[in-house]
Amino acid sequence: MMPVQPSPDSAMRGDRTRPKPEPGKPAPTDFQLLLARLEDHVKEAGVTQVMISQPALNLFQAAVADPGIDALPAHQKQNLDVHVDAAMHACAFMVAGSSVQGYVDMVTLKAAASYGADVLHHEATEAEREQVKARVRARFEPHVVAAERQVYANTAAIPADIKALIANHAPNSLKDPLTEAAEQVRAASHMPVDPDVGQKAKLAEALEALPVVKAMYSGKIAKGSGAEGGSLPKIVATDGAKTQKHFQKHAEAFYKNAPIGMMIYAALVLPSRRPPEQHVANIEITEDTVEPGRFWIGTRVTKYRANAARVGNKVCLSVMDEISTVVHEIGHQVEFYLPVVEWMRLQRILHTRMNGAVLLDIYGDGKEPAYDVTAMPAFEHYYGLKGQSRTGKLYPAKVYSSGDTELVSMTMQFFSQPDTAKLMIQLDPVLAGTVLRAIRPDDFAADRFPVDMAQLLPS
Ligand SMILES: [Zn+2]
Repeated sequence: MMPVQPSPDSAMRGDRTRPKPEPGKPAPTDFQLLLARLEDHVKEAGVTQVMISQPALNLFQAAVADPGIDALPAHQKQNLDVHVDAAMHACAFMVAGSSVQGYVDMVTLKAAASYGADVLHHEATEAEREQVKARVRARFEPHVVAAERQVYANTAAIPADIKALIANHAPNSLKDPLTEAAEQVRAASHMPVDPDVGQKAKLAEALEALPVVKAMYSGKIAKGSGAEGGSLPKIVATDGAKTQKHFQKHAEAFYKNAPIGMMIYAALVLPSRRPPEQHVANIEITEDTVEPGRFWIGTRVTKYRANAARVGNKVCLSVMDEISTVVHEIGHQVEFYLPVVEWMRLQRILHTRMNGAVLLDIYGDGKEPAYDVTAMPAFEHYYGLKGQSRTGKLYPAKVYSSGDTELVSMTMQFFSQPDTAKLMIQLDPVLAGTVLRAIRPDDFAADRFPVDMAQLLPS
């Protein structure tokens, strides 16, 4: 018999709330973020609640009643089942277009009303309603879970690693398959003790022996192996951007730099870890903000702030952006499409470096939250030279509602230029190595990378 184990946290059952990361609020746990990420992938693959609901309802209606609830005397259990069945049939008209949650609620209401009136000769009390609700859920949820698994298994666009996690589950579990997948990944992830100075230097050396790091240091990464595997971007400038005075001045450099950025991306990220091509190949040049200048200065141009929203499948940039910004924005797409296990390892680094449990306000405008990290050595050093040590440290630890961060983008941006690549590898080899392994798993095979050094990275 199925245990009564309500799962009110299932997104597909319509009632999971996702806390929005905000400055001053508690930092979301890595588990919460992982779950949010799995949900985003499922949504991105086109799975909607309706897709889950319909097969769940079909399965439910086809199901034969199983034995009664434990808490009630036998005759009442039986009676209750009769009422649940009757309510289920009475609610059949609701199936089309209804959510699973709506259906469960309706069945519960009807069954509770009849149960109270017939069995107890009065209106059902709160406690009795709860019993009915638990009974309806107990009978209903196995079918919802079965339907969820069916839909996940048959949706081609769901990443293979997520499908494998879902397929791994205990067949009788009533938990939301995504919750279970997140638990599985979180339980398997481990963060080793931070290496001491000597170990860090050794790790940096091991990384520097990799051909890709040699290419970064020599400034020839855009010509390195793998670079030719990248496709050229399709660049489109919005009308607003094209008519701006400064556009012509910068356009030539931009059209030269964007393809170089794409080649660096291809040289850094192995094909197995690249996002679907449509997510990186479309670049849109968006207009900058041009305001009248003060005093003798003609105009003041505020660069459009680049972004890589997955909506619309494009990377939006300013015509004034440089190669490293192109690499940075593509890095956001790379982060989203990393296997969840790799992504969890990055989260482990941030969570292990956390100073306090409250999110900080990066720029003091209440808009951009970041983990309160103790140290981000490479970024802190580089931006410290520009007098921006605090924001330089916090920005890579920024966290979005999706759970994505600035970690992969910032690290890939630093990998794209020799001076920053050196800082990244030498000052923060744990982060550099973790990002590199995520985007170049083959380089970390046991015959290519010292096993004892790989053990310094989160697993
Ligand atoms: Zn970014």
